Amino acid sequence: PVLFISINSSANVCGAVGVHEALVAYIAQRGIEAYVEVVGSYGLMGLEPLVEVQLPGMARVAIANVQAHEVDELLDPIFNRFLPEGRAVFQHRNDLHHPWSGVPFMDELPFFKQQLRVVLGLTGKYNPTSLPQYMAHGGLFSFVKALRSYTFSDICDIVERSGLRGRAGSGFPTGKKWRMALDVAADGRYVICNADESDPGAFMNRLLMEGSPYRVLEGLAIASYACGAGKAFIYTRNRYSIAIQRLEEALASMREVGILGENIFDSGYNLDIKIVKGPGAYVCGEETALIRSLEGKRGMPTSKPPYPTTAGFKGKPTVVNNLETLSNVPLILMNGPDWFQTMGTETSKGTKVFSLSGKCATTSVVEVEMGTTFSQILEIVDGVIPGSEIKAIQIGGPSGACIPPSLFSLKVDYDRLKEADIPMGNGGILVYDEKTCMLDMVKYFMGFIQNESCGKCIPCREGSQRMVEIYKNITRRPLSEEGHNTLERFKGVIQLEGLAEVMKDTSACGLGQASTYPVLSTLKYFRDEYEEHIFDRH
Ligand code: SF4
Repeated sequence: PVLFISINSSANVCGAVGVHEALVAYIAQRGIEAYVEVVGSYGLMGLEPLVEVQLPGMARVAIANVQAHEVDELLDPIFNRFLPEGRAVFQHRNDLHHPWSGVPFMDELPFFKQQLRVVLGLTGKYNPTSLPQYMAHGGLFSFVKALRSYTFSDICDIVERSGLRGRAGSGFPTGKKWRMALDVAADGRYVICNADESDPGAFMNRLLMEGSPYRVLEGLAIASYACGAGKAFIYTRNRYSIAIQRLEEALASMREVGILGENIFDSGYNLDIKIVKGPGAYVCGEETALIRSLEGKRGMPTSKPPYPTTAGFKGKPTVVNNLETLSNVPLILMNGPDWFQTMGTETSKGTKVFSLSGKCATTSVVEVEMGTTFSQILEIVDGVIPGSEIKAIQIGGPSGACIPPSLFSLKVDYDRLKEADIPMGNGGILVYDEKTCMLDMVKYFMGFIQNESCGKCIPCREGSQRMVEIYKNITRRPLSEEGHNTLERFKGVIQLEGLAEVMKDTSACGLGQASTYPVLSTLKYFRDEYEEHIFDRH
């Protein structure tokens, strides 16, 4: 028998470490010849801590929301082949000979059925630090195939033909970016995996690093090969301790078996990968600031051009790719670019991973095919918390646009969203219910931007500060304080519109430019709330 326990940042908050200890004690006390296997998360945080039991000759069953003190009473009936009643229990399809009658299949839960899990395909299914288990799922096949069968340029070509675009939000074609770096004559090139994820409400990259670190590393290794880079980095925030530990363990085992290092598989290609822990500064998600931080300097964006693909880290051609982008790469090489082209819309191929939090019924990480509507994504997580009504979703974190339910029919597609002036962002979706004050929410995020602004340019530095002051005045309670009458509040809102346009047009980097989306989108779609505040209609 094998007992699987999902250990990750979210599960640990719910007591998964204690459950793991209780499982180990359970099999020891009863003298059961079993072992406990640590796995990653499926992304359904509402089921954590999740314990799965595989008995020989029986279907694997999963029990949701297990607490350490319940382990004995939950496992005894399973080992006696009776499932506990009144608990959320599911079975897996991997053994249909002896299904538990009446117990639903896990993959038939609407949560899984409505997704297309490609990048998330392995998370939750295997021990994330076991190289043999990763290889048993086809892992490293693509990197070895790249080294043995293709030139650098071939890989750029395959990824270009797949239609893969950057998942950080800009949607720049990945293969084209690699080729731009490859085509620059240089005596050294670098590839950086941007796993900084410092925006509130985003935890997709964390789940991927914790649940499938080898897939991330393999994608990074293939990207490095395609760019002719001998050194690569994963830049992540220092607070992601489980992710960092798992990546480090995975790196160590890859070096041990010669998948990293010199002359990998007698190909003449050398590669090393280093994990760099950043301070968790939002601005370091911007590629030029990230590169400066990596160089040991203050994380501050620099002017472009030159673009990093021409002169990046230490002045050499450097490719910065988002972690989700890289996680797609081994699958593209394994299944071919045509396979990737079968998923998504005409101009946005593949899938997109989203993390959903806030007032949604189930805090989750989900993966859907490009072209899925936001309504369909919300259905996967059962919409808003029971008894509430949904007011808005914010796509793309603190710099994301807030959209009302009338726009939930919009599809996840780089170009369609751009037409609607809504940034795709990197995948964080925040859900707001009818009790959320949209102005309070924008005030919070403008405060975040003010704190995270590097201060280099005036529009962002001064503009964000002025905006916070205006929002504080508009949302001040009681409203009757001297100097903050209706006229003052009205003037403040007019000023907001002008300031936002200036910041959008003149800020030096994406942080300042995009930070105006919450302001402009709420002014556009939730104007009545501004009027309620101006005219004190609460
Ligand atoms: Fe710094 Fe903001 Fe200017 Fe970007 S827009 S360079 S974060 S001050």
